[in-house]
Amino acid sequence: MGELRPGQMGPPNPTLVARLLDVIERDVIPLTQAGVSRGNKIFGAAMLRKSDLSLVHAATNGETSNPLFHGEVACINEYYALVAADPSKRVDPADVIFLATHEPCTLCSSAITWAGHDNFYYFFSHEDSRDAFQIGHDLNILKQVFKHEPGGYARANAYFTAFSLQDMIRACDAHERAALSARADGIRAKYMELSEAYQSTKELDVCRNIPLK
Ligand SMILES: [Zn+2]
Repeated sequence: MGELRPGQMGPPNPTLVARLLDVIERDVIPLTQAGVSRGNKIFGAAMLRKSDLSLVHAATNGETSNPLFHGEVACINEYYALVAADPSKRVDPADVIFLATHEPCTLCSSAITWAGHDNFYYFFSHEDSRDAFQIGHDLNILKQVFKHEPGGYARANAYFTAFSLQDMIRACDAHERAALSARADGIRAKYMELSEAYQSTKELDVCRNIPLK
């Protein structure tokens, strides 16, 4: 696969969507299953090389140890720990595709910006986090702190462009859309299971130090 040019990063791009779904299924969800069993939220993230879509790092939410360890922040922190131990693992942030299972919150979109990434791709929207997963903090913080209505932040700005995987699936032609939608349905079902597991543990002692559950 050749180098992705900026114009190729948005829809339609079934190859990229399929690869990002792979990473969610194979790399992020197993980490999240383990994280949720320890009382953490369901949000995960990954970094891939733009050049060949190979995985740089995948991570999951770790809020039981630090409330700032959202999936995206955990991913960036863990990546820099790996680079500190082995500088050859460094990838220029401009060469990275940033993947978030859920549309990044204000903390995470800022972290992605400060880490020098010019993009992020997400599977579930802020509204999904509120409605399907009973976690409304993303939208509440956007409204309370930044006075933005849902969707009111700039998805394309001087720092990054945000891409919805669901929108990218809708932009594919009918044959590709059917196959990708079926995979997306499977991922959605998996996250509903993870969410039930999280919701059933969040009042337990393991979660007592998470300020915003
Ligand atoms: Zn976040």
